Amino acid sequence: MDSKARIHEIAEQKAGIIADMNHAVFDYAEYGYKEFKSAAKLTQVLEDEGFKVERGIAGIETAFVGTYGSGKPVIGILGEYDALPNLSQKAGVAEPCPIEGQKYGHGCGHSCLGAGAMGAAIIVKEFLKESGLPGTIKVFGCPAEETGFGKCFMVKEHCFDDLDMCFSWHPMDGNMCFPRSVAYYKVRFDFKGKSAHAGGAPELGRSALDACELMNVGVNYLREHIISTARVHYAYLDNGGEAPNIVQAHASLLYFVRAPRLALCDEILERIKKIAQGAALMTETEVKITVLGGLSDFIPNPTASTILSDSFIAEGGPDFGEEEFAMARKFLDAMSDEDRAKALVTGARINGISEEEFSKRPLNTTVIPYSEKFREMLSTGSTDVGDVSYITPTAQFTAATCIPGTGSHTWQFAAQAGTSIGDKGSIAIARAMAYASARVYEDPSVIEQAKKELYDETQGKYRSPIPDGIKPGEGM
Ligand SMILES: [Zn+2]
Repeated sequence: MDSKARIHEIAEQKAGIIADMNHAVFDYAEYGYKEFKSAAKLTQVLEDEGFKVERGIAGIETAFVGTYGSGKPVIGILGEYDALPNLSQKAGVAEPCPIEGQKYGHGCGHSCLGAGAMGAAIIVKEFLKESGLPGTIKVFGCPAEETGFGKCFMVKEHCFDDLDMCFSWHPMDGNMCFPRSVAYYKVRFDFKGKSAHAGGAPELGRSALDACELMNVGVNYLREHIISTARVHYAYLDNGGEAPNIVQAHASLLYFVRAPRLALCDEILERIKKIAQGAALMTETEVKITVLGGLSDFIPNPTASTILSDSFIAEGGPDFGEEEFAMARKFLDAMSDEDRAKALVTGARINGISEEEFSKRPLNTTVIPYSEKFREMLSTGSTDVGDVSYITPTAQFTAATCIPGTGSHTWQFAAQAGTSIGDKGSIAIARAMAYASARVYEDPSVIEQAKKELYDETQGKYRSPIPDGIKPGEGM
């Protein structure tokens, strides 16, 4: 039997384990760096499957690596399992329905993400065992993707240095390559002024709130003079208090600075710092600027992406059946007329069927092949897979875990991730990543080309967006 057919068969045998991991992690729904039960569940499954598991890597309690096999090539697979605040949601219910007593929920589908990643590694293990080929599979448990820069800390601790290639995925509404995504910094500005009676002795006060407002105005003017692909957002962390008759002695802002490359974020951040200092000068206050963390841009590696794309197409998209289509129709009915119309147009086009046909089976099963255009496209979201993509040739795909048009970070996304729609999306990507890995073990010569492409992009340079001294979980 060829490896493609064998991987498909093994995936079928392991489907139950993958679904079970998704449901367990979905029910635990734990926040970044607190994914204790989720990590315990996933590592237990890996150990039962014969992996050597190392827990607490990179000094993070909920990070881990499971290893099987020996020698080169070494292939990595990335898994996540953190949930989001205020997105608790009962699986399969097509209206907002938080689970009582639960604050967090899998509105980004990371329960599927972890299950699919562990599943891929488990399938690869069976393949390595049977084929007798040399090679190692390492599956990484990566905490706190949403808010904590988990993988950036793991990169800093050299967790991925020995990888020859890396595969990852993200739950979404379709099956395709993850495009380039932007880098970003998270920066805090604390202004300190002098309190006074705003009515009685305003001349004695120096307002930290005024400084914040002037800084925001300055940054508004800056926005016209930065590249159009950059984004600068802000929020007040401290508005100085509730009393207008007290000059605000303290006030703080949080800024996100996004751009297609970390170096571009640096340039914009330097200009924002000058504006903050200018605002402090104008108001005779002081400003303390703290970079709390950041992420690098994601670089899709052409060779690795082509291998994963071909493998995904060969193994096929998710095997959704009547149960999943019936569930999907419930969520389609719950959409607004406008959103439903859009979903049907997109779904019909992608799957090459009529809108009417798609309305009966409203889930994407077709895999869109990788092409150079995914390297030119730019997603304005960010992911900490970006930092791994600087260290080793990395491919990242999405697989369908919900109906088209379902936005991530929503209750609808969570509701579908926790059903068999989420399970089947995870199983499909698991066998795709497993087959991609098998092909690299069978022909390791592809690694050289992949590494050359990475070098051409980065010249071997990587700088961590995490300042020294910042610990995982700080400033979240
Ligand atoms: Zn996510």
